[in-house]
Amino acid sequence: MNPESRYKRFQRPEALFALFAPLVALPGVGDKLAGLLKKKIGSHIIDLLRHLPVGVIDRTKRPDIPNIEHGALVTLEVLVTKHDKPPRQSRRPWRVFAENETGQIEIIFFRTKGDYVEKLLPIGQKRIISGRAEWFQHKVQIAHPDHVVAPEKAGQLPLYEPVYPLTAGLTPKMIQKAMHGALDRIPDLPEWIEPSILARFQWPEWHHAMRKVHHPERVHDLMPGSPERARLAYDELLANQMALAMVRQESTREQGRIFAGDGQLRRQLIDTLPFTLTGAQDRVIREILTDQHQTDRMLRLVQGDVGAGKTLVALMAMLNVMETGAQSALLAPTEILARQHFASISAMLAPLGIKPGLLLGKMKAAEKREVLAGMANGEIGIVIGTHALLSDGVEFHDLGLAVVDEQHRFGVRQRLILGEKGHGVDVLVMTATPIPRTLAMTAYGDLMSSQIDEKPPGRKPITTTSLPIDRADDVIARLKTVLAEGKQAYWICPLVDESDVLDVQAAEERFTMLKAALPHANPQLVHGRMDAETRDTAMESFRTGEAKLLVATTVVEVGVDVPKASIMIIEHAERFGLAQMHQLRGRVGRGHDASSCLLLYKAPLSETASARLQIMKDSNDGFRIAEEDLKLRGPGEVLGRRQSGDPEFTLADLAYHGDLLEMAREQTLTILTENPKLEGADGERIKLLLALFERDRAVTYLAGG
Ligand code: ADP
Ligand code: MG
Repeated sequence: MNPESRYKRFQRPEALFALFAPLVALPGVGDKLAGLLKKKIGSHIIDLLRHLPVGVIDRTKRPDIPNIEHGALVTLEVLVTKHDKPPRQSRRPWRVFAENETGQIEIIFFRTKGDYVEKLLPIGQKRIISGRAEWFQHKVQIAHPDHVVAPEKAGQLPLYEPVYPLTAGLTPKMIQKAMHGALDRIPDLPEWIEPSILARFQWPEWHHAMRKVHHPERVHDLMPGSPERARLAYDELLANQMALAMVRQESTREQGRIFAGDGQLRRQLIDTLPFTLTGAQDRVIREILTDQHQTDRMLRLVQGDVGAGKTLVALMAMLNVMETGAQSALLAPTEILARQHFASISAMLAPLGIKPGLLLGKMKAAEKREVLAGMANGEIGIVIGTHALLSDGVEFHDLGLAVVDEQHRFGVRQRLILGEKGHGVDVLVMTATPIPRTLAMTAYGDLMSSQIDEKPPGRKPITTTSLPIDRADDVIARLKTVLAEGKQAYWICPLVDESDVLDVQAAEERFTMLKAALPHANPQLVHGRMDAETRDTAMESFRTGEAKLLVATTVVEVGVDVPKASIMIIEHAERFGLAQMHQLRGRVGRGHDASSCLLLYKAPLSETASARLQIMKDSNDGFRIAEEDLKLRGPGEVLGRRQSGDPEFTLADLAYHGDLLEMAREQTLTILTENPKLEGADGERIKLLLALFERDRAVTYLAGG
């Protein structure tokens, strides 16, 4: 069932109508401009207002002409004395001579039409001009001044001019004109931020802040820490935290259940494992169990670096549920991952005589029917699958626990859908990529989290180095030697998008080349666009050691477990996300051999790209890598483009506003404790904030409560 369907439609408060008017309503904005703006910025006036300047032009400098510095931006009041108009068809510029009491200048125009220049700068009249000045043959020239105004209209010349990020087809003038119109329509809105917070930071009211950010006067005003920007960022974070808390309030509205099994299955599992649990696994399993013993519905995030052993932790939670007779589902982001979880969990459960189920979108109809029947009648206690688990026809006999192997690809919505497939369903989210706390909060709100911060013993550190890709021949020669010694290696080619044909081609070409260069290593190729059978055969021959080299796209990112493989080569490392590279690197360093990871990059590297590779070389700590990545790239990219339903901030910058997020969380808690249904005038203000950030769905939950 669609979780939205139970709730009545949300009505936008009237106070916001002006802000949500379409951009074409603004003077100077026609369909064409609105179309351009829509692509990059949005279609409403409020979207334009959230498009903040990235620079400021200072037009206050009015030097004497002889003192002008080459290349300086100057504003001068001058008398126009002469025009040197080029003959028709000539490529010579149109030169205008002008002067004031300090000296003379030339104003230059190229390719002008008609009498434009004559009208702009009439002889014998004074004009204020502003633009970039240059010295040329002992004379000051200004080519195509930014502004020309008559002295009596000096007020029209902006002293400080905001600079906006532009997209193709947009000129600064177009955007500034539209922005002027938008700024004129800013309403006064009631305050939603706690007065004590406002006072503490001396933040302006919303409408003041909004106007001020568009009128910067110094570079300082553009900083994320300026009072105006910080205030607007806080608004956005508060809306985010409120919305998440309300979704959470809604999803825990239904009473949870107590899952307290007798421990029999769990003991059997532990007894048959060839190793003992790490201290961290043991602790996290107990943290989960404590939640399971309570009537509140569990929503817990389990974070653990690659190879920390999350699968086993999840399995213990699922077995507890199974001991009580209820069912568990494990939701994986891709088919390959679902298959891998299925394989490793099947192996662990085999000694217990338990067979888990597997549900994928692409399955033979008969197979699918059998699994669905087993889930519906309760014969299957543990099912592993992809998005297919969320489909309408999927029913459980008694679902008690949903484990989401997140990879940041599922949103709040998917978790709600799974929750509705049973009653009082507990949710456990596993993230292989460690998320900095700030990001976790914006994606999940205030949820409980557990860290598996210890790896199974005996893991050797991985040495990471980098080389430009034109040294590939040397690398292959070296590889030949070590593979002949019996080692195994991964060679990863980038595949950012599973539908990217060019990347697949590049991987295939690399494979052909490596097969020719290293025939004794029996290289195998796997990528996401192969049929499952071919891929499984290739993986299997690598797993058994028959093949020494596996050429792969990122399908081996997670879950692949071949302890003997000790070498990882990542081609075009500059194209990968750090977190993803860390995942890939986690495929080695699982066995007894010392392991290595080589990052092949295409030179030259940008400064950021080279800083990113350096982080990989310096650190094996997933948390640190994620934090550094956040600083270098910003949250949108760290969380990955594929995330759904997770916030994208336009005003807040988590690399700077992390402390504001913490405050927003606290204010959210206070509000929901004191006024859970957002009643009265105080409540209305918060609803206005939610509507301002289009967190409409959160507001509709109030009606459902
Ligand atoms: P991840 O946290 O990356 O999902 P996995 O659950 O895939 O890690 O576990 C990685 C590997 O470590 C698997 O081969 C698993 O069997 C093994 N493993 C898990 N827990 C332990 C442990 N306590 N001692 C030794 N090996 C373990
Ligand atoms: Mg795993």
